[in-house]
Amino acid sequence: MIYFTYGKKSFTKFLGYFGEKTECPQCGKSYCRSLVRHNTWAHFDEIPLFPIRCQYIIMCPICANSKVAEKAEAKKIVSEQLHMNEDLTVYGKDIIAKHQKGIFTADTSKELWVRDNKTGEEILVAEGISSMHIKKQKKYRGLKEIKVTKE
Ligand SMILES: [Zn+2]
Repeated sequence: MIYFTYGKKSFTKFLGYFGEKTECPQCGKSYCRSLVRHNTWAHFDEIPLFPIRCQYIIMCPICANSKVAEKAEAKKIVSEQLHMNEDLTVYGKDIIAKHQKGIFTADTSKELWVRDNKTGEEILVAEGISSMHIKKQKKYRGLKEIKVTKE
């Protein structure tokens, strides 16, 4: 018997920063906003068929507080305003001292950080989180990877 699989897949991509530094209402840090593209495609047997949805997300590059951009606004940003004036690295820490023994205990030994490579400032975004949470953040922020260092 032959099985076909049909489904949806989403792809996210960090496109750059735009505009002036603005203070984030959630984390209080002042940085240029990120623009992230979230694309959803229909798939048939792992073959992308057609796009179902394309959204542009305006995001705080520190805490990922975000909103969906209007289509016209997103187009304008993409064509005229993207820049790379920020130099930020999102990374994780695996706190070995917080490792729990036993297979049924929750994985809450990770932390999410953002480093400002210009000033050297390191900002703690979330603590007591799991590696799954870090994977989700990687996807949501449209990053290729979030390196996790052992501490
Ligand atoms: Zn923020």
